[in-house]
Amino acid sequence: MRILVVEDERKMAAFISRAVSEESGAVDWAGDGEAGLDLAKTYEYDAIVLDLMLPKLDGLAVCRALRAAGKRTPVLMVSARDMVVDRVKGLDAGADDYLTKPFAVEELLARLRALERRHDHAPTTLKVGDLQLDASTRTAHRGARTVALTAREYALLEYLMRRTGTILTRTMIAERVWNCTFEHGSNVVDVYIKHLRDKIDEPGKPTFIQAVRGAGYVLRDPQAADS
Ligand code: CA
Repeated sequence: MRILVVEDERKMAAFISRAVSEESGAVDWAGDGEAGLDLAKTYEYDAIVLDLMLPKLDGLAVCRALRAAGKRTPVLMVSARDMVVDRVKGLDAGADDYLTKPFAVEELLARLRALERRHDHAPTTLKVGDLQLDASTRTAHRGARTVALTAREYALLEYLMRRTGTILTRTMIAERVWNCTFEHGSNVVDVYIKHLRDKIDEPGKPTFIQAVRGAGYVLRDPQAADS
């Protein structure tokens, strides 16, 4: 899950960012509406947490501009204002959901997951060969064996499995699973791929996650015929 947080209150932004990144996601943060709109138009996010009251451009204006630019990224608007008229304005501006501050972090995360599912029409269970990922419980199985994953490993595996058979560059992986300030040239992707292989692979059997020389990585069923 890659999330953009547009929020001018640093404490609130840090609170949301920490929650999302612990859950499995990469988080980018913008402190005003203009910067938020720029990021939202430039990168592909699974969802945007958009504060209503923002410097330079308020949340409603950001949302309208985003929709006018043809971007369908799900928007969860957050605001201390809980009048019906505020909610209606937010939804009319193109927001997909509206959450009133203060909120419980679990509710924020649940709503983000719901938005992501609605947006992707993503199946909750992914299966490649005998490797299975359950997005609702965030667990993986290799055959009957349960594979315990950290949040980041889960995010990486989910990304690879959703794009089974597609070669993904280190940059694509890093931007998806970490964030856009990720330091390119670092070997963190390779390190995490190795962790995942150690957990998924079985002794004496070929690996699911194959390195493509000079390109990146691809996940495919090693038992399936080459295609
Ligand atoms: Ca604000």
